[in-house]
Amino acid sequence: MAFENPYPQYLEQKIDTKMIFSLLDELPQFVCLLAPDFSIPYYNRVFKQIFGDPGQKKCYDVVRGYNHPCPNCPLLNDLTDKEPFSWELTTKSGRIYSVNGRFFTDETNTRYILKTGIDITDKKKIEYDITRIDRMNLIAEMAAGIAHEIRNPLTTVKGFLQMLGWKSDLQQYQDYYQLMINELERANCIITEFLSLTKNQTEDLELQNLNTIIQTLSPLIHADALQSEITIVEELGEITDISLNEKEVRQLILNLVRNGIEAMEAGKDLKVKTYMDSDEVVLAIIDQGKGIEPEVLAKLGVPFFTTKEAGTGLGLMICKNIIKRHNAKMDIVTSSKGTTFYIRFPV
Ligand code: ADP
Ligand code: MG
Repeated sequence: MAFENPYPQYLEQKIDTKMIFSLLDELPQFVCLLAPDFSIPYYNRVFKQIFGDPGQKKCYDVVRGYNHPCPNCPLLNDLTDKEPFSWELTTKSGRIYSVNGRFFTDETNTRYILKTGIDITDKKKIEYDITRIDRMNLIAEMAAGIAHEIRNPLTTVKGFLQMLGWKSDLQQYQDYYQLMINELERANCIITEFLSLTKNQTEDLELQNLNTIIQTLSPLIHADALQSEITIVEELGEITDISLNEKEVRQLILNLVRNGIEAMEAGKDLKVKTYMDSDEVVLAIIDQGKGIEPEVLAKLGVPFFTTKEAGTGLGLMICKNIIKRHNAKMDIVTSSKGTTFYIRFPV
């Protein structure tokens, strides 16, 4: 194809047709020229990489795998303007290209379409992720607000139910009142756990001793265990101070201990142990429960996954978040004799 060179003389001397083709092959975009009969008289290296060697095939076959021209092909429409057109193309391999086309008329007045396309798959994915994260943040914020607001009416209803439950002429309905109150408490429990999830995650870590946290928590854990006739055994080894968020670590221990207690029969022991393992502070919660089945193990920490009738399925998810924020790791060892949750904090 001959064309008039509009560039200065010195460029014409240096650059020949072959060099122009080589230059086009170096471009990161695909470039192709479509003839009025839908053949592809020119394509660059990237085009061939994406669509294969077109040979004598028609463009709609090469690009789309059709056996007829694309219905909206500019070649079919008698477009006269010189405005470029653009669209997005998804290839069979799933890559997305931003394609630009414009008419190109050669000296014999034949009208071609010059097409270029650049891979925008990664850009698209990032855009999609950003909008999704934005949406998630918005939903989380709204949900936290709503969850908080729901508590007030719940508290009111619970108060009135308790009051009515005490009335002597309503004693026959005592069971119903208790059931309703229990259900409200359960709802409140879910909201509390949910709110601790959406809490601002940048709370400070403070250098302190894990044993101290366990000791202050001790009366609460013992009281909890007593109700289920479980004995808590504390085995606190000498450990270094580490960066901890006291509130979160309390929540972590409570959740794990609670799970341990709930997994055991009366009369068993639950051990809370701390020790150093090379340069890690280890917290081990060792129960004598029935162990965790593999299919349950695979789902631990999935929100709302629970095998308990009155469970929320949020406990371990919260633990996982807390562990992550402390750069710690969780290992679980389980058998029919019991389960141990190891939390390893870096020093
Ligand atoms: P929930 O306690 O409300 O069910 P969790 O997230 O705390 O929610 O626990 C999810 C599930 O993991 C439990 O329902 C239980 O099946 C299992 N699980 C957790 N800890 C233990 C444990 N120590 N022993 C046996 N099963 C456990
Ligand atoms: Mg739990």
